[in-house]
Amino acid sequence: MTENSLTDKFSYFDENYAIILERVTKAAQKSGKKLSDIKILAATKTVPVELINYAISKGIRYMGENRVQEFQFKYEALQKENTEMHFIGQLQSNKVKYIADKVCCIQSVDSVKLAAEIAKQARKHNKVMDILIEVNIGREANKGGVMPEVLFDFIEEVSVFEAVSVKGLMAIPPICENKSELCGYFEKMQQYYVDITAKKIDNVYMHSLSMGMSGDFDTAIECGANMVRVGSSLFGKRT
Ligand SMILES: *Cc1c(COP(=O)(O)O)cnc(C)c1O
Repeated sequence: MTENSLTDKFSYFDENYAIILERVTKAAQKSGKKLSDIKILAATKTVPVELINYAISKGIRYMGENRVQEFQFKYEALQKENTEMHFIGQLQSNKVKYIADKVCCIQSVDSVKLAAEIAKQARKHNKVMDILIEVNIGREANKGGVMPEVLFDFIEEVSVFEAVSVKGLMAIPPICENKSELCGYFEKMQQYYVDITAKKIDNVYMHSLSMGMSGDFDTAIECGANMVRVGSSLFGKRT
């Protein structure tokens, strides 16, 4: 990338980030929250390291990658102090070993096999890995995530792994016709989040309700999200 286009990307990021902070603030107010209650995670797939590091320098505290190879490739050059690295993409069990030392949270856990492998790799690194349970809230055949009707049983099952700690839920709702349909999915997630909190299961803590991306993060926050994952609205269209 030439210097010029990098400078352009930096100022483009600045503009976008300011707008997002404003939108998050407004949406948070609508659900009785403050900007500081909402974790803004930058989804950084295809984004060059220079731009990610710039975003970190501007105050982004949560980063999410979703391709193992790309993440490995970028990892060394990332300025990781004061940032939490999350994995947000679909993850095969046999790839966990490549990221277990690099991330503090895996947001896309949807099988016991995957949770078991994360626990195994976390133990190797002497750490406890935070995980979010991905819920297939729209029950879509082509999407990952645990089906809603087995969510409670699933969480009890993975809660026994001592080297993982369940820290919340994640979802990507189906494409919706209108805001009320979309909000319906987000509110269902919020209800699960509240119900699981009430169950007080050992090793299960509902800290993060991760939902909302560039196209729908305002609605997600209004309907209960406390973590949003934004990519293109921060960095521009992916090429
Ligand atoms: C890419 C990605 C995002 C961000 O998508 P945008 O629409 O660009 O904001 C969020 N979550 C996951 C899991 C992603 O893969």
